[in-house]
Amino acid sequence: MGKLDVSLLRYLSQEDFRVLTAVEMGMKNHEIVPVSLIASIANLKHGGTHKVVRELSKHRLLAFERSKMNQGYRLTNRGYDYLALKVLAQRDIVLSVGNQIGVGKESDIYIVGDTEGEQLAMKIHRLGRTSFRQLKNKRDYHAKRNTVSWIYLSRLAATKEFAYMKALYARGFPVPKPVECNRHCVVMELLQAYPLQQIHELENPGAVYDELMNLILKLANHGLIHGDFNEFNLMVDGNDHVTMIDFPQMMSTSHKNARHYFDRDVKCVRDFFLRRFEYETDEYPQFDVHVQKECSMDKEIAASGFSREDNVEMEKFSDEFRHQIESDSTENQNSGDESGDSEENNANSSPTNLEDALEVHEESAESEEAQNVQDKDQQ
Ligand code: ADP
Ligand code: MG
Repeated sequence: MGKLDVSLLRYLSQEDFRVLTAVEMGMKNHEIVPVSLIASIANLKHGGTHKVVRELSKHRLLAFERSKMNQGYRLTNRGYDYLALKVLAQRDIVLSVGNQIGVGKESDIYIVGDTEGEQLAMKIHRLGRTSFRQLKNKRDYHAKRNTVSWIYLSRLAATKEFAYMKALYARGFPVPKPVECNRHCVVMELLQAYPLQQIHELENPGAVYDELMNLILKLANHGLIHGDFNEFNLMVDGNDHVTMIDFPQMMSTSHKNARHYFDRDVKCVRDFFLRRFEYETDEYPQFDVHVQKECSMDKEIAASGFSREDNVEMEKFSDEFRHQIESDSTENQNSGDESGDSEENNANSSPTNLEDALEVHEESAESEEAQNVQDKDQQ
């Protein structure tokens, strides 16, 4: 597992970040952003966008690309990471990045340090990294261009995860304490716990089994299904208490396949407890018998930043995502799917003006530019 190389972060100037952000904004409508557009969005006081862009691509924050139609730059993973980290640093949330502790196929998880030197966990969503490529060959709708959407999808997944974490935490569910979210990064409490997958002995398997089944039921009675409730997403602490993580695939109990996913979550736990602890019981929750939806958390989730519209967007590829979980459930490899046209990529409320995106409201002298930027972006 690697480190996230953030050494460059402190050396990047305000101009560098203007340009990087300009490319991010350009990518809402362009797969490859021409330098002329970058220059017009960034609107550097003394020009020189060409030089900055070259420098940023030397450091692999941007990548130069040429197609038949045009040429220009696109944001790299690293460039997008830096944009999020810059904001998280400005907000005094993340001051240092340490070791990587988790590798999912669709995410990287790092230990990070805040201002007080407290350790936190940061999950960087990376939808579209691997599995889209495989999917691409199989599905003709992927023949349509869609390389832009990894930014969109990763941001959407992070937004969803953070909103669910906040709503669940507020309701007293055992989830990590949510701290902050920016772009594709979710910062949360660092759990002093291990994935159930690494636990080979439990003092009382029956008690843990009951805790898990009650959790599945409590979720359902709040109108929710986890959808990937397996031994990799259940963290066990020193007292054998469980905290659940990993929420991008969560769904409502009114989803058309709700029973299927509910049963799959239950079966996951049953199978694991039999396999690992030779624990078996006839008692397990059944969707039709035991789920009495007592309340819904839709409002809290929307209030936490994941709107109904976002959900509609996310559901466009979520079934693919959940299906993939099924086919590699033993390896815990999640997957996503690419959605719609890039024109829809505005849905998840990414900032539409440069100053908002940069979070530099102090410099009010530049606020006039912000409007210009927006106008130019529309051209
Ligand atoms: P993925 O979507 O890639 O599966 P997860 O959210 O499940 O990502 O995280 C992957 C792994 O990272 C987990 O199995 C766990 O080992 C570790 N991890 C994730 N979140 C935390 C956390 N808050 N504290 C400690 N470890 C965590
Ligand atoms: Mg996981």
